[in-house]
Amino acid sequence: MHAARLVREGNRVLGMSECPEGPPPVELTDDADLFLRLRALDCETADRSRTSDDPLPRAQLYITESCNWRCPVCYAGSGPDEGGAHLPVAECLRRARDAKRRGLRRLILLGGEPTVHPELEAIISGLRGLGLTVSLVTNGQRLADEPALARRLKVAGLTHMNLQFDTLVPETLRRLRGRDDVELKQRAIRHLVEARLPYSLTVTVTRLNLPELGAIVRWAAGLPVLPSLVLFQAMVPAGRYPEGLAGVSREAMIGEVLRASVVAGATARHLHVVPRIPAGGLAIHPDCGALLFALRRGEELVPAESALDIARLVQALTGYRDGWLTRLRAAGALLRSPRLGHGCESLAALLGLMPGRVNRRLMLLGFTSFCSPDFLDEQRLARCADHVLLAAGTAPVCRHFGLHTPKPELVPPRTSP
Ligand code: SF4
Repeated sequence: MHAARLVREGNRVLGMSECPEGPPPVELTDDADLFLRLRALDCETADRSRTSDDPLPRAQLYITESCNWRCPVCYAGSGPDEGGAHLPVAECLRRARDAKRRGLRRLILLGGEPTVHPELEAIISGLRGLGLTVSLVTNGQRLADEPALARRLKVAGLTHMNLQFDTLVPETLRRLRGRDDVELKQRAIRHLVEARLPYSLTVTVTRLNLPELGAIVRWAAGLPVLPSLVLFQAMVPAGRYPEGLAGVSREAMIGEVLRASVVAGATARHLHVVPRIPAGGLAIHPDCGALLFALRRGEELVPAESALDIARLVQALTGYRDGWLTRLRAAGALLRSPRLGHGCESLAALLGLMPGRVNRRLMLLGFTSFCSPDFLDEQRLARCADHVLLAAGTAPVCRHFGLHTPKPELVPPRTSP
């Protein structure tokens, strides 16, 4: 393994390996000013790595290889004809139980498409029985087709749903997901709202839908119940992906949303890095993610800074762990964060993000990029809190780029007779 460094060249940031036979420099962004501005916001040193003492707050569990869709953009290479296996309920619980002993609190169910698992409700209720918070990433097909499904999953113990939502344009959806039924996602959202299940939208961003990001925010802002997060996530070059559509940087996504002026008056000054909250399962490198807090006021979105001191809140939450001292600190920051004259508005916004509440005010816009396959930045990976539950135990994983990690095995290991 050779050392590598980041170099600024004009307004580009290049990742350069020092290996004489290594790859050529890799462009990480063409907006160095914004990239460095976000780095400078980090409350901790940029290379603050996880240690073995850190609890394991959040992990992913791949419960099926199968999917009812066959997206041209699929990081897992899944589909209905690929004959994928399902992870048995007992094996899901065994892995989760082991991770719980290491402090695991939150589990994200992934696939393939988790809702095609025939025993999904048993898995969710078993995981809840272990005291874990469980969320799920879905394409929304079954949610749209079965109005009662969201309620059943909530009753089983699901606390949050992440809905894939890439576009409002049928032709774009066809090129990215192989179908053009944009109404389907809207039906899925309606059923989630009826079930009062909190949800977020995840937009896989390619060169094709990049120009649409503003329209997606505007559309989401018009929903009666807001998603708590709209996450713009650059397409991962893994599984199936159309080569020519890859390579969108985090800064390009941010630039697109700011240029669209969907959050009135928002500028780069309103961006924040993701606070490192071990107890909440958040810990990502400042080069990977950025947040814009948007507040719905009447018909429009405005930066939440107009009502809340977000910078103070983010700073106080950074490093927040379980324990009464840090809880007190975070609660104190929360109470001091509303700006003068905006107490009620701020309180309503924050309460809307609490589990089980209906969110009508505050919407987070998240922007994340992945480690380039040509420039795997160890510092980024070491800081990431995400882990994946494998048959042999847990392994660290970059949420946005899984190529370098072992493929999750869905068939449990044989036990000796
Ligand atoms: S991206 Fe998701 S919905 Fe699409 S084929 Fe892959 S697993 Fe299925």
